[in-house]
Amino acid sequence: RFITFEGGEGVGKSTQVKRLLQNLQRHSIEAIRTREPGGTPKAEAIRSFILQGRSESWGPGGEAVLFAAARLDHVNQLIAPNLRNGTWVLSDRFHDSTRAYQGLTGGVDDKLIAGLEALALDGHTPDLTIVLDMDPDAAFKRVAERAVEDGLQVSGDRFEKEEIEWHKRLRDGFLRIAKDNPERCVVISAAQPEETLEAAIWKAASQRFPE
Ligand code: C5P
Repeated sequence: RFITFEGGEGVGKSTQVKRLLQNLQRHSIEAIRTREPGGTPKAEAIRSFILQGRSESWGPGGEAVLFAAARLDHVNQLIAPNLRNGTWVLSDRFHDSTRAYQGLTGGVDDKLIAGLEALALDGHTPDLTIVLDMDPDAAFKRVAERAVEDGLQVSGDRFEKEEIEWHKRLRDGFLRIAKDNPERCVVISAAQPEETLEAAIWKAASQRFPE
């Protein structure tokens, strides 16, 4: 089983991926968690290359190509082998992030995104995609609070250099993807306490995979 988590910044994806992994392990299901951009040494190298001092210099088209190259390695080296072994794979972001960020929000043509996807996924479409949905204003507050807790300044982040409007378009992009792919996508409100959100995700996964 291949489960991906998607959504904008600050919606709590990483926490929930960890919690689902623990819940699966408690049920003696073998599972691993990974993330994108990244997940393998080569893909992580591309991640830092793009995100370091992100200057928009590649533009959405360049980012789509580079993220696709990273994903190709991630699928070949980590995702596909684990799925073949029967190990469940949980990924914090996957191809829908490219559709939403570079495609729907960045303006890269659908057909180009689809072509890169076909190359990178090689048929490994997720069985279930959890779209964590939250109003960007609320998500931003969470990101800022977390940064303060960690003693960091919120800088070099899209929140600083771009408008909240951009994040609203991104949110609409993810909702759009979910609507167009109802067979695999479930939208869950991330504006609820961590524990109830965890329970909602567990319920969605149990319904999707009743065995
Ligand atoms: O989810 P995570 O915070 O690890 O993502 C790292 C950064 O990569 C985020 O700022 C996100 O906006 C960006 N990203 C992107 N395009 C993607 C995937 C992630 O711009 N396809």
